[in-house]
Amino acid sequence: MQTVDVVVIGAGPAGSIASAILKRRGWNVLVVEAQHFPRFVIGESLLTHCLDFVAEAGMLEAVESAGFRYKNGAAFIRGDEYGAIDFGEQFTKGRASTFQVQRATFDQVLANDAQRQGVQIQFGVRVVGFESAGESVTLRLQDESKIESEIRTKFVLDGSGFGRVLPKLLDLETPSNFPARAAVFSHVLDDKAQDAFDRNKIQVVVHPKNKDVWFWVIPFSGQRCSIGCVAAREFFADYPIEPIARLKQLVSEEPFMARIFGNATWDTPVRTLEGYAANVKTMTGPGFALLGNAAEFLDPVFSSGVTIAMRSASTAAGVLDRQLRGELVDWKRDFEQPLRKGVDVFRHYVTAWYDGRFQEIMFSKNHSPKVRAMISSVLAGYAWDESNPFVSEAGRRLDVVAQLCRQDYVAAT
Ligand code: FAD
Repeated sequence: MQTVDVVVIGAGPAGSIASAILKRRGWNVLVVEAQHFPRFVIGESLLTHCLDFVAEAGMLEAVESAGFRYKNGAAFIRGDEYGAIDFGEQFTKGRASTFQVQRATFDQVLANDAQRQGVQIQFGVRVVGFESAGESVTLRLQDESKIESEIRTKFVLDGSGFGRVLPKLLDLETPSNFPARAAVFSHVLDDKAQDAFDRNKIQVVVHPKNKDVWFWVIPFSGQRCSIGCVAAREFFADYPIEPIARLKQLVSEEPFMARIFGNATWDTPVRTLEGYAANVKTMTGPGFALLGNAAEFLDPVFSSGVTIAMRSASTAAGVLDRQLRGELVDWKRDFEQPLRKGVDVFRHYVTAWYDGRFQEIMFSKNHSPKVRAMISSVLAGYAWDESNPFVSEAGRRLDVVAQLCRQDYVAAT
């Protein structure tokens, strides 16, 4: 039976970053990936903090030279109201820009670079069984001809995303606290000038009928954009079932979307996803840790998914490196608890988006540059910096600022 120090399940951002960091520290790593790359996956607008992990994994040059669209912030649109976050406004000193990426290419760039650094990746092989005994783990693998084999390893990092391999095999899944929402999305070619809107920002556009329903516009290089609409499952009941007809009708109902994409070329399949918010009872156990979406996924509104996936990969790789060197580590204390702190900060922001507080803040003209910088740093991904009051007391600060913005609005009308 083949043996390796570490097996990583999945070659998404979590898997590629974790495997490259471990390889750079001298460990023998095998990534097992069910699909063949390039493959489609959603999650295209990156936060700046994720580039810190790309750099740690030695992949920054590869990513910077891939020709992705530059991104410097996020713009929010509600009717004729407009609010923007610029990642250059910083409380936490970090990067001021990042990229908007076609994930098929981005994930391929990361996986290629992991291989360049000596990580082995087996494509077209899925993990179908896990057994932990004492110091080692045996994984059951299945190739595309359904032929099974086994591999022995000291530790498994599960970066299988929505595949959620170990949560399913080990019965770790728990429901998310967020209601089941659905998304309908595609890539289109628009016919508008480069300066028709700020293509260096993701645009988050509120639907005119319902403030819980929103669109994303993620501009890629050239004229291509990812567009999508997110709503509670029931909201879509009044729309056509066929995904392309559904998304076209939604686009036609919102003035900004209709103006930019009214004459777009729809050359890519329109896809739907629903019930993607998920959680687990534990992120670690004997012989394994869960990375990225294999553990928890909140909501797409603040584009936090890839950053959380990479942060989990970096933290887990650091703890595992120490363990493999013979140090006594505590996975709950050293990995799960610190990771969950930042995830919980994003949870406050997602809750505040859907209950309206974040929109009050974003569409108000009256907050101070200091508050803007603190919020901007969280939205850039620096949600683990507890010196930022909008991290350490996220819920309370959002409450207070939303209330102040509401009072200003009432006073002005
Ligand atoms: P993935 O990228 O999903 O990679 C997992 C890999 O594991 C896949 O390649 C899969 O083939 C492989 N795998 C699965 N099962 C097995 C198996 N049994 N054996 C072997 N391999 C397996 N995030 C952002 O940062 N920005 C966004 O703008 C954004 N928008 C989103 C919009 C929507 C509608 C949704 C639902 C999510 C969005 N996300 C976004 C989240 C983002 O998609 C994920 O957080 C991110 O892809 C997680 O990365 P990962 O490495 O954990 O998993």
